[in-house]
Amino acid sequence: MHEVSMANAIVETVINSAKKNNANKILEVKIEVGELTLLNPEQLKFCLETLSKDTILENTKFKIQKNPARISCNCCGYEGKVKIDDNSDHYLAFVSCPKCGCMDIKILSGRECNVKSIKIEKGD
Ligand SMILES: [Zn+2]
Repeated sequence: MHEVSMANAIVETVINSAKKNNANKILEVKIEVGELTLLNPEQLKFCLETLSKDTILENTKFKIQKNPARISCNCCGYEGKVKIDDNSDHYLAFVSCPKCGCMDIKILSGRECNVKSIKIEKGD
């Protein structure tokens, strides 16, 4: 499952930066997920909560924000949003230009899965 490996990476990132910052509690984690990753935010959240048990992340609030995908087309110059086929089984959605159908495109955003911010409580 795609979500599990992503959740694993996120938990690791957050725990590492919490250690660096001497956090004794993590209050909130904001995550940005691009539309093109086809990650299911609900599933991702569930995985994160499962992986958080018995770690410093237990009881942390996970806020997942979905980022829309944007492309620029090398054929007609279109720049903007794309329509994503949510039924795709692929890890990355199949994308073409919504204006001319060309597949010679550049993906500007939508492939990211980042920890955007972490709210911590510092130890004494
Ligand atoms: Zn185009």
